[in-house]
Amino acid sequence: MDTTTNTGTASVWAGEGKLASEGAIVTPVYNSVTFGFEAMDDWFDVALGKKPGHIYSRNTNPTVRPLEDKIRILDGGEEATSFSTGMAAISNTLFALLKAGDRVVSIKDTYGGSNKVFIEFLPRMQVEVHLCDTSDFAAIEREVSKGCTVLYLETPTNPTMKIVDIERLAKAAHAVGAIVVVDNTFNTPVNQRPLALGADLVVYSATKYLNGHSDAMGGLVVGRKSLVDRIYHYREITGASLHAQPASMIVRGMKTLELRMLRHNENGMAVARFLAGHPKVDQVFYPGLPEHPNHAIAKKQMHGFGGMLSFSLKGGFDSVVVVLQSLKLAHKAASLGSVGTLVGPPRTTSHVELSAQERADAGIPEGLIRYSAGIENADDLIADLEQALARA
Ligand SMILES: *Cc1c(COP(=O)(O)O)cnc(C)c1O
Repeated sequence: MDTTTNTGTASVWAGEGKLASEGAIVTPVYNSVTFGFEAMDDWFDVALGKKPGHIYSRNTNPTVRPLEDKIRILDGGEEATSFSTGMAAISNTLFALLKAGDRVVSIKDTYGGSNKVFIEFLPRMQVEVHLCDTSDFAAIEREVSKGCTVLYLETPTNPTMKIVDIERLAKAAHAVGAIVVVDNTFNTPVNQRPLALGADLVVYSATKYLNGHSDAMGGLVVGRKSLVDRIYHYREITGASLHAQPASMIVRGMKTLELRMLRHNENGMAVARFLAGHPKVDQVFYPGLPEHPNHAIAKKQMHGFGGMLSFSLKGGFDSVVVVLQSLKLAHKAASLGSVGTLVGPPRTTSHVELSAQERADAGIPEGLIRYSAGIENADDLIADLEQALARA
């Protein structure tokens, strides 16, 4: 069967479907570090890449491979590889593609950990990093046109949900021969497929929506085979490999990916609409609202607006503390993209790595609440927010 046509079908079947040992219909967890051979010729052929197979789990593993195939098919990429965390996927991708003397262009609003790679580690490698104002596409195009090896984008951004025009900026990057990398963690292939918009590589924290249950960490990279092969080789040597156990949990989580994302989209929209009409709320940041400054671009490049939003309170940080304390249907915790609603101020979650000054420079109000709408009943989430806001 063609598992690539519909996302719902691909979520369940892609990369799997063949019966495993003893006729198991579920991908077994191969907790084996190494793989043995009866015939020496087989061993040599697999080791030399002449025959498919597995040698050692730092390189490949039969539980991890179906996960890589699943994301490859869902995103429409040529090749995919995996990592122990999302940050391992992002840092290994950048370290594999860049060398001293290269130039990388990105935006100021990337995920806090990615921002640290840009401002701390890449400069140490003599890579020149230029971080542009996220919403000024003309300025990004100007920087890119000066020449760069990598254009690194993330959209929507964390935590103020800015939208970046992937198609427009990918064109500018390709005009100077740059590689376009997009962090698609907030969307998953259900809501946005960057490769179809011109990206060369897509990176994920699988810890978030792909796994979806806040019980396993992982990272994935998917895209052009020649590039993924270079990144795989770097990871094979530096060793931030994904283990079989979390891979099996992520594969299980991904079977309900489309179902969950459709519900996250509905709940994100319902909660954003409610907050936009609330007298104690100052601003709501959600790309699905028509008043979002880049709603038109979001509508063009996204198939759904997701479950992530943020909002600021007129009462400032004191009100933030009261509202957070009063919410019952939300874990007050870092992370996002889980079946259960997660809530927190960016200064203890996505941007905990930044100083107060760095957060201010990034335009993140200290009185902001980031809200990752889960898959609960939307009316219940709204009633919970209503009672918490009443105390603020
Ligand atoms: C969480 C996150 C990451 C990092 O992923 P880890 O699995 O925590 O290492 C990267 N990018 C985005 C957008 C994220 O939300």
